[in-house]
Amino acid sequence: TDTAVPRRIQALDQDVVNKIAAGEIIVAPVHALKELMENAVDAGSTALEVLVKDGGLKLLQITDNGCGIDKDDLPILCERFTTSKLQKFEDLQTISTYGFRGEALASISHIAHLTVTTKTRDSNRAWRAHYDAGRLVPSKPGQSSDPKPAAGRQGTQITVEDLFYNIPTRRRAFRSAADEYNKIIDMVGRYAVHCSNVAFSCKKHGESATSIAVQATATCPDRIRQIYGGSVANELTEFSTSDSRWAFKAKGWATNANYSTKKTTILLFINHRCVESSNIRKAIEQTYAAFLPKNGHPFVYLSLEIDPHRVDVNVHPTKREVNFLNEDEIIQAICEHIRSKLAAVDASRTFLTQS
Ligand code: ADP
Ligand code: MG
Repeated sequence: TDTAVPRRIQALDQDVVNKIAAGEIIVAPVHALKELMENAVDAGSTALEVLVKDGGLKLLQITDNGCGIDKDDLPILCERFTTSKLQKFEDLQTISTYGFRGEALASISHIAHLTVTTKTRDSNRAWRAHYDAGRLVPSKPGQSSDPKPAAGRQGTQITVEDLFYNIPTRRRAFRSAADEYNKIIDMVGRYAVHCSNVAFSCKKHGESATSIAVQATATCPDRIRQIYGGSVANELTEFSTSDSRWAFKAKGWATNANYSTKKTTILLFINHRCVESSNIRKAIEQTYAAFLPKNGHPFVYLSLEIDPHRVDVNVHPTKREVNFLNEDEIIQAICEHIRSKLAAVDASRTFLTQS
């Protein structure tokens, strides 16, 4: 029968390939936002403003005061694999910036309408450019697609509109803008805790009240207080430990035995990138089990720095997971240190209540 005849193999159109790849990297608005925030921090920004409409599906805008983008780079800005951060494969071993392979802006331009307004210190004006499918496009049909002069302060503003407009099945899968907004607030909050010396704000379009507002000068516990509230912030213990054998440094703030809540919150940064790790989560939960009532859980902000030679950031396009050497030993050392801190606080508490 006909079905037994093999169909001929054909190469997919490059734009189709790019669109498929983009949908894998950017699954929800929060993933676009994370990439854009990381770019802003990489650019040396000390203030970062996020504006959101319809959970980021209608509008996601991020304004920074970083180094800006050279006007001459604008034509290739959104091409796939164009980056200022990586030159050779070996550079991946020492990479210290968040991004590294020039895929974020390219991906976003394939599944949304992207506008960039940017000004470097040396330029006397800002430039605005519009992108579609990796290329410069005119803002209105019939006009030239060249970047246009615009007003603006030093830094970069990236505007992402109508995310997933050309992937209708994905677009329809988002049932609640409120859920997507909550994911965005959660991610902005994490970076706002981690990035000391950087101011953050996040709000919904058309509302004057901010969901997050953190000053550049705020300390880490201040930041946690503003974002996660006083009940967490009042019971924080600072920790810091390192071991040259495994080439790691860990520091952060963790709630003590006086604090307990229904769900564990872990803000985990590995080499300044917000990531998830079920192994670290499990180990931290086990550590606290001895100190908290049954069904009680902690809040832990953990910043882990590991020699980049020992970390593989390239395990997944989303960079949400990383692999590193001596994972078991490092996790054990950190949890042992946190345990000793908790025990010290617990001992002084017992002493106080007894005396
Ligand atoms: P990557 O971050 O992996 O290099 P991206 O697609 O995220 O790739 O960004 C491409 C390039 O655009 C970056 O290498 C950087 O030079 C520039 N860029 C992106 N966002 C900003 C920003 N907010 N400020 C300054 N430069 C930026
Ligand atoms: Mg990037």
